[in-house]
Amino acid sequence: MTFEDTKELKRAIDKYTITLGVNLKTVRSDKKTCKVLCEDGCPFSLYTSTYGLSMGWQVKSLAYEHICVCVHKNPRAFTMWLAEYFKEKVQEAPQFKTKEMKNEVQRDLKVCVSVHKCKRTKKKIMEEMEAISRMNLES
Ligand SMILES: [Zn+2]
Repeated sequence: MTFEDTKELKRAIDKYTITLGVNLKTVRSDKKTCKVLCEDGCPFSLYTSTYGLSMGWQVKSLAYEHICVCVHKNPRAFTMWLAEYFKEKVQEAPQFKTKEMKNEVQRDLKVCVSVHKCKRTKKKIMEEMEAISRMNLES
C-alpha cells in the first residue's frame, strides 16, 4: 500500500478514522516516518515511511485489528453506521446474508463484528424499508 504524498496519507487516515469512528492518533510524524496508533490497549498500529527519492509514503507495517471497535463504547452508533453502509445493498438484494455482511466488514474495513450485530443491522434496514413502503401506500 502506498500513498502519493503526505496529503494523501493524511486524507486516508482521516477517512479511516471517521468511517470507523475510532480514535487514531499520530504518535510520531516527521519528514520520513509516520506512526499512528489507536486508543490505549488497542492493537491497531500503522507505520509508514517515505520511499526512494519521491514524496510518496509506503506502509511498512499495519496491524488492522481493533479491539476498541469490537467493544465499542457506543455500539448503537456503530450499528447505525453499519446500517447506513449496507442500506443500498440490502435494498437491492434483501436476501443479502448477514454472514456475507460480516465477511465484508471484515474484509473491507478490517473490523470484526458479530453475526448478531449484523442481524440487528439488517433488521434495522428492513424495518426502515417497511416503514417507507407503508408510508408510500398510505399517501
Ligand atoms: Zn482501535
